Amino acid sequence: MQLTVLGRYAPYPAPGGACSGYLIQNGETSIMLEAGNGSFSRLCKHIDFRYLAAVVITHLHPDHYMDIFCLRHAIAGAIREKKRPGPLALFMPGSPAEEYQRLAQYTDTFIINKIEDMPTVNLTAGVQVHRCRVGMLQLEFALNRHPVPAYAVGIDCGRGRMVFSGDTSRTKELEELARGADLFLCEASGLDKDVEFVRGSHLTARQAGQLAKDAGVRKLLITHLYPEYNINELSIQAGEGYGKTVAVAKEDAKYDIKNA
Ligand SMILES: [Zn+2]
Ligand SMILES: [Zn+2]
Repeated sequence: MQLTVLGRYAPYPAPGGACSGYLIQNGETSIMLEAGNGSFSRLCKHIDFRYLAAVVITHLHPDHYMDIFCLRHAIAGAIREKKRPGPLALFMPGSPAEEYQRLAQYTDTFIINKIEDMPTVNLTAGVQVHRCRVGMLQLEFALNRHPVPAYAVGIDCGRGRMVFSGDTSRTKELEELARGADLFLCEASGLDKDVEFVRGSHLTARQAGQLAKDAGVRKLLITHLYPEYNINELSIQAGEGYGKTVAVAKEDAKYDIKNA
């Protein structure tokens, strides 16, 4: 399984950059995970969008879904021109209602899958996740702590497993979902001085590192970066929390995810 970073910034992109967007590929199965501002253009540098199997949006904040409106026209055009057999599976939370309805109306383009409606399984005692399959990949969604309903996502191909934090402050659910992951793609939205500002909605770089350490992940890749901040400073604070060197997500960079 391979991860390609399409965008790493929030809540607005740095010059020439893009907001949250990731391409996950495993054999014939390609998933666009998040569709933040500028991510669709970058997706097209790496694959033909007509072959996407699904798009997954962790929550309905603009820096995570705005390019759905680009994707909608691209997919509708491909269906019209018979270059794609049918609509694209779209996974997203069912609220806030106004944002959800705006996307859910595009039934000619998307097959809407509300995350809340998917079957639940017990990950560990007291920790439940929603589970589904897309092609060769198993997806698990754990509820986050964020101002709007939001999810973290675990993606397993059988020979490797990655977990994406989405946007959240620290939760037991995320720690359990991330446990032992081959790659943990985790938001690092602030520096130590931002602890109060992010409380209840995001993780600082150091908190991301501490969570990764406690969850025993094999590799930590930080993302969701505030464009005004020094990447090196974020990376140092995350590394101090993790107790090991961390990697910083970089647009167009590819990461192989496989079991040790
Ligand atoms: Zn965000
Ligand atoms: Zn958010």
